[in-house]
Amino acid sequence: MPAAAVDVEAILAWYGQRRRDLPWRRTRDPYRILVSEVMLQQTQVARVVPYYQAFLALFPDEAALAAAPVADVLRAWSGLGYNRRALTLQTAARVVVRDGWPRDVDGLRLLPGVGPYTAAAVASFAFDLQVAAVDTNVRRVIARLDRRERTPAELQRRAAALLPPARAADWNQAVMELGATVCGSRTPVCDACPAIGCRSRGRPALAASGRARGAGGAPARIRFEDSDRFVRGRIVAALAAGEPLPDGFEPVRLERALAGLERDGLVVREGASVRLP
Ligand code: SF4
Repeated sequence: MPAAAVDVEAILAWYGQRRRDLPWRRTRDPYRILVSEVMLQQTQVARVVPYYQAFLALFPDEAALAAAPVADVLRAWSGLGYNRRALTLQTAARVVVRDGWPRDVDGLRLLPGVGPYTAAAVASFAFDLQVAAVDTNVRRVIARLDRRERTPAELQRRAAALLPPARAADWNQAVMELGATVCGSRTPVCDACPAIGCRSRGRPALAASGRARGAGGAPARIRFEDSDRFVRGRIVAALAAGEPLPDGFEPVRLERALAGLERDGLVVREGASVRLP
């Protein structure tokens, strides 16, 4: 089946009218865009917004973040989860302060914690480069538009072919917004969608869910409260607040979480005492 004839202008017009007013959409500053992209890597938009604003109030540019004590950075990040992202982001800021901003995707990918999607996002949003940023939402939308799953390389080529001249930044945002608000993983709202010509319109959707599935086809879920990540987050939050280690966890679980945090450079242990770096 040939690829769908996508009405790019209709999708851009819809984005212009319906886009959510998110703080990182009001800037072209690569630092502020990178902070938002790293925060959004594993955290939902609504949760990120207040952290993003508070973080930038403390560390308004890459120089401020690079020079900040690690404990302050972790305090600002605490509660957002995946605290290791904060350390990696600070390392990236230090590289930028030392070497300047890379001005292309390949250079951006050399920054710590910056993968293909994040590099393309910063390149298009901050530097206006004509590159396609393909995240989970974009992958799902394009798969549905063409009613076809592709390999990552094929998908990147298809996403690049869709880019309207000189409008990569708006287009990337528009397709992400479409995936986040209309063409959702489980409930695509085709009646409200501007993607005329979509080959999946009104039909059972492709790529409904990427979750692993357990026995019997049921989604395999582990309660967040039972995960090591939960214990790690509680430890960092307690230390960031100047409180003792949280109680209520089995000693073996607490020790496993502490060992992981220490290995990742998120806590320092000296004898029986534990502190942020
Ligand atoms: S028409 Fe439906 S399936 Fe196609 S992109 Fe829009 S919401 Fe998704």
